[in-house]
Amino acid sequence: MEAIILLGGPGAGKGTLADFLKKQTTYIHVSTGDMLRAAIQAGLAVGLEAKAFMEAGQLVPDSVILRIIEERISRDPAENRFMFDGFPRTIEQAEGLDLLFKKQGGTVKHVFNLVVEREILLKRLTSRRICKTCGAVYHVTNKPPKKEGVCDLDGGEVYQRADDSEATILKRLEVYEKQTAPLIAYYQKKGLIRDIAAGGLAAETDALVLKVLTA
Ligand code: AMP
Repeated sequence: MEAIILLGGPGAGKGTLADFLKKQTTYIHVSTGDMLRAAIQAGLAVGLEAKAFMEAGQLVPDSVILRIIEERISRDPAENRFMFDGFPRTIEQAEGLDLLFKKQGGTVKHVFNLVVEREILLKRLTSRRICKTCGAVYHVTNKPPKKEGVCDLDGGEVYQRADDSEATILKRLEVYEKQTAPLIAYYQKKGLIRDIAAGGLAAETDALVLKVLTA
């Protein structure tokens, strides 16, 4: 088992990059945010547990996240390659992943650190829209769906996430700085960090990452 990790603040472009890598590589996309939103929609217990944290822009407890990740990666055969998007988000989760991979014989190949200025993150998040069914990412002006409110890929409803409101966005940025940014040093020590300038066009970010993966 092998994994790459997409790391970066909210709005850094992890989901958009994942949409691209899904088509260009054999990595299986695992987004804890998408999984939690799906669990809420389906009325599952884990969704109920997560909902209040998500709406407040706070992190869902590590134990819940590690449980859904363990379940997800043990569902696929050992030769699979995963692309983690929005996981890990704390040092505890990164340590939990290390332990899980030690047990199951997995390795982390690269950690792509998407570097974007705070001002750009804020602008992107307020303009972001996503598909309710497949999670495809749109932008009201830069990348609107062909038909307003309808996903180009599967016809699902394109909507604004509840946690993409201005107050919650500020909280999520603060949570990122405090709890997730320390992961950069954690993975730097392991020699896995690949800094990617991600403040420009999505196509530029895509190309930089693909270059590392195909090197
Ligand atoms: P995302 O779609 O990755 O932006 O995640 C949306 C929200 O889901 C976050 O603000 C958290 O509340 C929760 N969440 C997603 N992934 C994680 C994670 N790895 N650890 C803790 N909370 C998470």
